[in-house]
Amino acid sequence: MTASLRRELLDACRELDDRGLNRGTSGNCSVRVDGGLLITPSGIPTRDLSADALVPMADDGTWVGDEAPSSEWRIHRDAYRHRPDLDAVVHTHSTHAVAVACLRRDIPPFHYMVATAGGDIIRCADYALFGTEELSRNALAALGDRRACLLANHGMLALGATMPAAIALAIEIEALCEQYLVACSAGEPVLLDDTQMAEALERFATYGRPTGPEEPHGR
Ligand code: 13P
Ligand code: ZN
Repeated sequence: MTASLRRELLDACRELDDRGLNRGTSGNCSVRVDGGLLITPSGIPTRDLSADALVPMADDGTWVGDEAPSSEWRIHRDAYRHRPDLDAVVHTHSTHAVAVACLRRDIPPFHYMVATAGGDIIRCADYALFGTEELSRNALAALGDRRACLLANHGMLALGATMPAAIALAIEIEALCEQYLVACSAGEPVLLDDTQMAEALERFATYGRPTGPEEPHGR
């Protein structure tokens, strides 16, 4: 287990706290490592967290060290099994995501940025008690082929190829939830249709990437 991975995970926890996406012991995060994952310990506020307290866990759920892994370790472990292409998982109790999750609503295609999670809606997983295998099953079902979902009466899950990507997605989803709630409080948002969301998804496949010599700012 490299010191730089531990540092990256600790920095991620602090960033989520600094941005107000998590606080106290709410939420958790992990990165994939060879044969398993490195995950935050259970019940330790981020301000009291040190790199040494992060928990290396094998894919079979066994761990070593003084601290117990996050109570949500199954979600993290199962997410890595579900998405071999993604290497970081972030779970937050950010206010607006929680608010939408308490309404038990999927985030509908009210804005094209919903496609940033990889689909035309961001689903809300069925409720299950925190830390249970049932919650992990429900989360994976809601994720499907997407990189994010809400957890009913609980929070949000965001996955990324890297930890910065997972954090960026969590920030975007929190903003989308806030925007959705503001729009709903002013009226009924007009939803984009299937064709419009398919176009947005297609655009995202090449967004921010040079496409060839005709690209004006090609790198
Ligand atoms: P842990 O401290 O066990 O990670 O729990 C926090 C949490 O968000 C549970 O869903
Ligand atoms: Zn939680």
